[in-house]
Amino acid sequence: MLNLVLFGPPGAGKGTQSQKLIEKYGLIHLSTGDLLRGEIAQGTTLGLEAKKLMDDGKLVPDEVVIGMISNKLDANKEAKGFIFDGFPRTVAQAEALDQLLTSKSESISGMIALEVSDGELETRLLLRGKDSGRPDDANPEVIRKRIVEYNTKTAPVADFYKKQNKFTSINGIGTIDEIFGAIVNVIAAY
Ligand code: AMP
Repeated sequence: MLNLVLFGPPGAGKGTQSQKLIEKYGLIHLSTGDLLRGEIAQGTTLGLEAKKLMDDGKLVPDEVVIGMISNKLDANKEAKGFIFDGFPRTVAQAEALDQLLTSKSESISGMIALEVSDGELETRLLLRGKDSGRPDDANPEVIRKRIVEYNTKTAPVADFYKKQNKFTSINGIGTIDEIFGAIVNVIAAY
């Protein structure tokens, strides 16, 4: 299996690159943000609880997202592999993901990080907010909070994969195809 963690701050281009990777490698896309927005759209209790935190730019509790990922892994036993997008976002989530995969005799192939400066992220997110309909993209204060959550809680996840020699960082500024080409080169070396 090819199991990729696509990493980077909000607005780095993880969603866009995931779509291209799915097409090329036939992988299943697991975005915890999309799964949470699905729960909100269905009006579930989990969705209602998560929405308060998401609208405030905060992370939802680890157990919630770990449970969602565990269900999706079980529901896709025949998959060629997975792209984890927006997950793991804390070291506890990364540890839980390793355990889930080990229990299925699988592992993470590698983490690929898209590097983009904070200033560029704010510009991109505000632009996305104009037509994405995402309330967390429309408000500069919430965007800044999400970037702070990323820098404090999520950035340490990179060290977790560095220690396992599974980390590669690439420049997230350029055309969609240039960045995709760089990702494909990293995957070719696995
Ligand atoms: P995203 O679509 O990945 O930008 O996620 C949108 C929001 O959903 C985040 O700001 C968090 O509030 C929440 N979220 C998504 N994935 C996770 C995760 N792995 N851990 C905690 N919160 C998450």
